[in-house]
Amino acid sequence: MGEEELTYVTDAFKSNWIAPIGSYIDLFESKLSEVTQVNQVAVFNSGTASIHLALKLLNVQTNDIVLCQSLTFAATVNPVVYQNGTPVFIDSERETWNMCPTQLEIAINKYISIGKKPKAILLVHLYGMPAKINEIVAIATKYNIPIIEDAAEALGSKYNGNPCGSFGKYGVLSFNGNKIITTSAGGALLSNSKKDIDKAKYWASQAKDPALHYEHTELGYNYRMSNILAAIGVGQISVLEERVKRRREIFEIYKKQLSNFKGISFLEEAKGFYSNRWLTTILIGDLAITPEKLIEVLAKENIESRPLWKPMHLQPFYKEFDFIGDGVSESLFNHGLCLPSGSNLTNEEIFRVIKVIKKI
Ligand SMILES: *Cc1c(COP(=O)(O)O)cnc(C)c1O
Repeated sequence: MGEEELTYVTDAFKSNWIAPIGSYIDLFESKLSEVTQVNQVAVFNSGTASIHLALKLLNVQTNDIVLCQSLTFAATVNPVVYQNGTPVFIDSERETWNMCPTQLEIAINKYISIGKKPKAILLVHLYGMPAKINEIVAIATKYNIPIIEDAAEALGSKYNGNPCGSFGKYGVLSFNGNKIITTSAGGALLSNSKKDIDKAKYWASQAKDPALHYEHTELGYNYRMSNILAAIGVGQISVLEERVKRRREIFEIYKKQLSNFKGISFLEEAKGFYSNRWLTTILIGDLAITPEKLIEVLAKENIESRPLWKPMHLQPFYKEFDFIGDGVSESLFNHGLCLPSGSNLTNEEIFRVIKVIKKI
């Protein structure tokens, strides 16, 4: 936490708005709107809930095809199944590790040719690196398929100067405990349509129609964020910029110290790409050591590192669904590693990690 969160939480307590409504919710939403440059923002109790409501706004229902980036955390895709939709997984490209435009277009044509035009494209900016947005938006426009942008890991990232989360029909953020800023749990839905955001808020608040006895014409959810957590969020927004700065510094330290090793490569930013460097990730190839082995050696020194997200098309739960690709995400998974990247790591701690890696 930064310095202001406790002040705001205390203020929320004093106001006695310990509820999923209150002034901090409104304030957090307006601050997020400023940061993301998207007109309308609704905060919910998770990023997952926000993706679910985005799919509902696009009217994704039973057997509708949703084209999903395969290399991601399961929370991106699970809401497609909540709606009884059918995810079709799209491989990554190597420059950003995100959805490959070529594979995306192959998938669109495949499904159009069998009369099942995809209902949505679910794009992710993984580890904070923006996807190839220009190419993907061009394809989405050509075939008139809306984009949901999962920017859960990419708050503070930019593409050609514009914030991640502001390119799709809907954008999604997460404030889960592991994200660059957190409310312990929480998420947000972004859109330039007030009508859509109002509808999402209505669904998220048990779909109560205006009647004293609560009339329900639609299925509701309990997805709103607590005013207390929104107070934490208001405090966290003010540290976002310095967090991004620090995460980028951490990346630069690792890169400077480790890029001399021929077998280690870093995910570089191409022109126009600006990553929040949520996590510093490396690929290991041509070395007599695997990521698993490195994770084990680091763990012995009490240092936690992790593999990359296991692609969804390789997950047991999702194995029956279609995958369009040529093995890039699987190869990234087999060679990749997430290094300790928390904003509060000291330089001494980072150099301790580097020393262990250099030694092995
Ligand atoms: C964290 C995360 C989510 C889900 O957010 P929650 O707030 O934890 O529900 C979705 N997609 C990606 C890529 C994430 O990393």
